[in-house]
Amino acid sequence: MSELAVPAGQKIHASKKTYQMLIGGEWRDSKTGGTIDSIDPSNEEVIATVPDGGDADVADAVEAGKAAFAEWRTFSAAKRQKKMYELARRMEERVEHFAMLDAIDSGNPLTGMIEDAKKAPDEIRNFANMATELKGTSFETPDDVVCFTVREAFGVVGRIIPFNHPYRFAAKVAPGLAAGNAVILKPGETTSLSALEFGEMTMDIFPKGLISVVTGYGHTVGRAIVKHPEIMRVAFTGSVPTGQAIMRDAADHMKRLSLELGGKNPMIVFPDVDVDKAAQGCIKGMNLARSMGQSCQSNSRVFVHEKIYDRFVAALVERVAKLKVGDPRHEATVIGPVNHKKHYERIMGFIESGKDQGAKLSIGGARPSQFNKGYYVEPTVFSDVTMEMRIAREEIFGPVVSVFKWNDYDSVVKEANGTEFGLTANIWTNDLTLANKTAKAMQAGLVWINGAGGRVPGVPFGGYKLSGLGKEGDLSDLLSYTQEKTIITHLQ
Ligand code: NAD
Repeated sequence: MSELAVPAGQKIHASKKTYQMLIGGEWRDSKTGGTIDSIDPSNEEVIATVPDGGDADVADAVEAGKAAFAEWRTFSAAKRQKKMYELARRMEERVEHFAMLDAIDSGNPLTGMIEDAKKAPDEIRNFANMATELKGTSFETPDDVVCFTVREAFGVVGRIIPFNHPYRFAAKVAPGLAAGNAVILKPGETTSLSALEFGEMTMDIFPKGLISVVTGYGHTVGRAIVKHPEIMRVAFTGSVPTGQAIMRDAADHMKRLSLELGGKNPMIVFPDVDVDKAAQGCIKGMNLARSMGQSCQSNSRVFVHEKIYDRFVAALVERVAKLKVGDPRHEATVIGPVNHKKHYERIMGFIESGKDQGAKLSIGGARPSQFNKGYYVEPTVFSDVTMEMRIAREEIFGPVVSVFKWNDYDSVVKEANGTEFGLTANIWTNDLTLANKTAKAMQAGLVWINGAGGRVPGVPFGGYKLSGLGKEGDLSDLLSYTQEKTIITHLQ
């Protein structure tokens, strides 16, 4: 097993690592005195502990952030840019380390985490590049009036992330920083290690306290961030129920929110496609290989035209059977364990409900027999799924694909849209007119045609309906970390 590297100055137990959290440029324990075990999902062993933070820790991070902001706000956009480029450079030197750390802590396979660790510095650089786009507007006025707007950072902002891409999502501090804010990062409680080590890389680049990493549970640290009166902007990536709870909590202080939430994304396959390519595209779009389907954008509902239905299911099953399930540390592994016990049990519950409600189990559906430990779930395909089944309606967030048969265009569009989610959609046909017509009909924030998964840097990402609020990755994301002030001068 690869050694877990621990940032300088942190304590190491004989058998496990004790991480501290980063507040005000210092490593420290939580004021609650508690810790949370980080468990390796491949063998259920405790590999580290992280502080179980609380209100007082968040309050300290806010005070430290305010002090750092007083300095950071005096930096020009070009100077902030330079600092962020330096961070990206350091991240690029440590791709393998962070990939392995996430593989051990999250269960996602190493090869997928190498992709994540390569993309994380791109996120930092992307927003550093945009920093000089923070412009106001000037207005046509009478001769004795000058009127313009300026964009101002909020001060201290909160960034709450989920467990599925821990290091890649830690880099989501980028727009807040580029816009001139201090950022409090709260990682998922089961995958905090790479966020803490990410924090370590930032320490001697930015003003002390500009980036704090506060670990702990959602109902404690997460809530404390959302309810803190001096954090006016909160960005959240996670599930719909949590997003809804955050929106309620944020109401008291009228916080500015962005919410990147769950999905139950459709893939529509038309009869003219190359069936093998579409089946391969389905596996890619499901993100089976990178995160066992634990991805908000996974195409977990696949609508296949009846003319090619049997061939498609056979091709999909043949490919799924070849996906190598194994230890996420090994390069040959394609499918690792899912992230934590409760999530494993939830996924297994969905699989049971699919069987009970009459879906046909085409492959998978159990724990792989070669493992007696670890949260492994066989990649699973249900066919003959119908819309009233639970597996057709609720986000499973695991390696479970549901395949539906269709023969009528209007009905398939209605069924594809027949969910409370609206994050992504994936359309397969060689008829690009039909593809674009269908893309327009999708109630989703992002539609791929003939190939799901890839995203171009700088394009907006965010959901329709319950899948979220606001966009990420683009200029509007950067601007959302500022507030606009209008200044009117009367020339006397
Ligand atoms: P989650 O909602 O349970 O938790 C996400 C984060 O929120 C964690 O850090 C958690 O501690 C914190 N949290 C929990 N309750 C909170 C509260 N009341 N106040 C503040 N913070 C709180 O989600 P998860 O299980 O970690 O992640 C899976 C979900 O994330 C899925 O629904 C998935 O679709 C979604 N997701 C969305 C995107 C996107 O960009 N749209 C990306 C990745 C994951």
